[in-house]
Amino acid sequence: MDFELTPEQRALTQTVKDFVDQRVDPRMSEIERQNRIPEDIFAEASALGLFGISIPEKYGGTGLSRLDRALVHQMLGRSGFGFAGALASHTGIGSDALVSIGTEEQKQRYLPRMATGALRAAFALTESEAGSDVGGIKTVARKRGDRYYLNGVKRFISGGSRAGLITIVARTNIDKQLKEFSVFLVEPSFPGFRVGEVYETMGSRGHPIAELVLEDCEVPEENRLGPEGEGWLAAMKTLNEGRPLVAARCLGACERLIEISTDYARSRKQFGKSLGEFQAIQFMLADMAARTEAARWLTYHSAVLADSGRLTPETISIAKLFASEALAFVADAALQIQGGTGYIADNPVGRFYRDARVTRIYEGTSEIQRIIIGRAVLRR
Ligand SMILES: Cc1cc2nc3c(=O)[nH]c(=O)nc-3n(C[C@H](O)[C@H](O)[C@H](O)COP(=O)(O)OP(=O)(O)OC[C@H]3O[C@@H](n4cnc5c(N)ncnc54)[C@H](O)[C@@H]3O)c2cc1C
Repeated sequence: MDFELTPEQRALTQTVKDFVDQRVDPRMSEIERQNRIPEDIFAEASALGLFGISIPEKYGGTGLSRLDRALVHQMLGRSGFGFAGALASHTGIGSDALVSIGTEEQKQRYLPRMATGALRAAFALTESEAGSDVGGIKTVARKRGDRYYLNGVKRFISGGSRAGLITIVARTNIDKQLKEFSVFLVEPSFPGFRVGEVYETMGSRGHPIAELVLEDCEVPEENRLGPEGEGWLAAMKTLNEGRPLVAARCLGACERLIEISTDYARSRKQFGKSLGEFQAIQFMLADMAARTEAARWLTYHSAVLADSGRLTPETISIAKLFASEALAFVADAALQIQGGTGYIADNPVGRFYRDARVTRIYEGTSEIQRIIIGRAVLRR
């Protein structure tokens, strides 16, 4: 099996890499401290079309293939997960449901502004009693006339405090089971919507997670996404489309950490030699490289299968599980190679180390990925 990127894919990758390395990465310390991404960086991302990669050309986006999107996310991962997270929730879980099941009118209303980043998107599923167990959702949407009234509290929503459009999953029939979920497009200006706690996090800073409080939040019927009661499938599809992109960002972060570690191993001297001359350090670099290569092919494979409509939940989970755990290993080894220097606040490796931790938690924890894979293996 041969796999070559096309000249266009190489050019795309190089453009995003240059932007991330030259314009974003040098400002990551500032972003981490302020827990905010400067608007001028967003403006540059918008000019490059990065907000529109998941949005079809018809609505002003670039409508990239799944593989091309994975390549973009891979490059975003090179600066860690603060800036990458902001673009990821917008071009992944925030927009996927609208693009795949929205009506023409809904798409015309929202997608052109989303394609430029003028309107930023988030996705709200998690609640205090519904984390891994999504079926535990308590948020209820009751219909009166041509309006739904949503009541409940969502938490840990990436970019929730700054989003202009949030895809919210709620129950539309509390007596029945999963098939009674529905999905709504909610604007923060809707009556009854407010942002609750905005959490301080150990990593992925710049793109805070927030609590969203819905108190009789009034949502017009035309903002229901897909048929009533079919929101479960839409939510699962959204997560399935997002997970290979998490894997891609992990891959990019691994690659960057290997570059940083190699530079350090070449320049730092102890016992009269550069660190890279010690076999112990070479072995660490070797293990980092081996895991990164495996993550690369699992990620690309899942993206190629997605483009040809052959992707299975098992393949998705394998890519997300492996790449996020590879990153955990690579970040830990990168820090070890730097010794005490890596532990100093503001050191980029320390930032990657903190950022990496969340990739084994969000969009389905490692345990949930293992459950999906284990069940699929048993079914074979
Ligand atoms: C930075 C960040 C960003 C996030 N962004 C979003 C977002 O944009 N939108 C959104 O909706 N949510 C978001 N989340 C929420 C995230 O998806 C959840 O935190 C995640 O799904 C886990 O749920 P939980 O935190 O409730 O943990 P729990 O489900 O309570 O799990 C706790 C532990 O128990 C394990 N566990 C649970 N059930 C099982 C089981 N059956 N078998 C074995 N082990 C199990 C888990 O794997 C985990 O280790 C975000 C979270 C973070 C930290």
